[in-house]
Amino acid sequence: MLDTARENFENAAKMMRKTFDPQLLKRVGTPKERSEIQLSSLLADGKIHLFKAFIVQHNDALGPCKGGIRMLPNVTLDDVSALAMEMTWKCSLIGVPFGGGKSGIVADADALSPDDKQRLVRRYARNALRHIHPLVYVPAPDMGTNERDMGYIKDAITFSMGVAATQGCYVTGKPVIMGGIPGRREATGRGVEITVLEAMKTLGRDIKGARVVVQGFGNVGSVAALLLQQRGAKIVGISDVDSGLWNDGGLDAEALGRHVAKTGRIKGFKGAKAMDRDKILTQPCDILAPSATGNQITEKNASKIKAAVIAEGANGPTTPGADEILDKRGVFIIPDILCNAGGVFVSYLEYTQETQAEQMTEEEVKARLEQRMRDRFQRVYDTARTKRLNMRKAAMHMAVHSVCTAHVARGFLP
Ligand code: NAD
Repeated sequence: MLDTARENFENAAKMMRKTFDPQLLKRVGTPKERSEIQLSSLLADGKIHLFKAFIVQHNDALGPCKGGIRMLPNVTLDDVSALAMEMTWKCSLIGVPFGGGKSGIVADADALSPDDKQRLVRRYARNALRHIHPLVYVPAPDMGTNERDMGYIKDAITFSMGVAATQGCYVTGKPVIMGGIPGRREATGRGVEITVLEAMKTLGRDIKGARVVVQGFGNVGSVAALLLQQRGAKIVGISDVDSGLWNDGGLDAEALGRHVAKTGRIKGFKGAKAMDRDKILTQPCDILAPSATGNQITEKNASKIKAAVIAEGANGPTTPGADEILDKRGVFIIPDILCNAGGVFVSYLEYTQETQAEQMTEEEVKARLEQRMRDRFQRVYDTARTKRLNMRKAAMHMAVHSVCTAHVARGFLP
């Protein structure tokens, strides 16, 4: 993942060598701070268990570092660095006053009991207290963590301060009842939907009847699938970490959501036939939405992909080599830093809401999200056309240019 993130950055930096000092470009391509933290948690079995956590602040020229907490058994400091770098570009592109950051906790969220997960998340909050602050680093959910965990983090922080509420926002994606914002949970998937609608309109294609494959049926994938289905698209393929589903006539994403809420997995869903998890990526469809994890579309499978549009719900799902193959074949890619930026945009609304002790309605949130996503899609598309770049290169150019401009505006100390 770090290789992909670095290569995407290098491609953008090359275009700006005449505009910005090479040392500045080097600086914005390098994380500001990378920390590894040991967590020792007393779990329900009465034993002390050791876990590792990482926090990376990539860049804060535009504002405090923003980025989710990924809890996976194989997450590495390099993955977290790649994701933090991506967050820098995403915040810059979507136009929120944040820099990029990310956390990782090396643990299997699915294997922990709810009680043990709560203990671990609280331990993370306690040990990461020096890093988490409205002006420094503000976490949010990512793979393996959710709204509930963000509630525990806020509670752990206020508990350690001996108060009920904080001044300013320490964490986003919290339950609405404790200062979260309505619509945050759906925001990333909704952003995927909005950018797909924009792409289809731009390409002169109809969303009604369009065949969609979604990889991953978690927060992002399940919402994107449901909303696209509600727009008249046919969800023909879905996968999760252990299986795939296919229904040529379109499966019911809402019913699948109920099945997953009960069983935790897509396996065993009656409304589709089973298909190999990775095979669904290369099946015939109009829109492919990789919404699971990184490096899923590679040199190995890129030439077999049949979709006309790829909507990157996940972070870093396409390797640079695959990008080249897809570009030559004329596949329209909505790059991750645009496609899945709805989550951080609504996190920004939550941040401002909490800072000003205001309350926003779901309608306001939806309207602002839709307006921002459409606007940024159009700007990226216009940049792509005028500079003769593909969508990823155009998005990266805009994002890196803004971060460098912020550094120049701040000036440099001797
Ligand atoms: P999640 O943990 O809720 O869901 C992840 C889903 O992917 C699960 O269904 C899991 O089974 C599936 N999965 C994992 N590995 C897979 C594989 N190899 N093949 C198929 N399915 C697989 O996570 P999420 O919050 O939905 O995040 C998904 C992606 O979107 C991640 O890349 C994340 O960084 C990105 N993202 C999330 C948000 C957000 O607000 N949650 C915002 C921006 C980007």
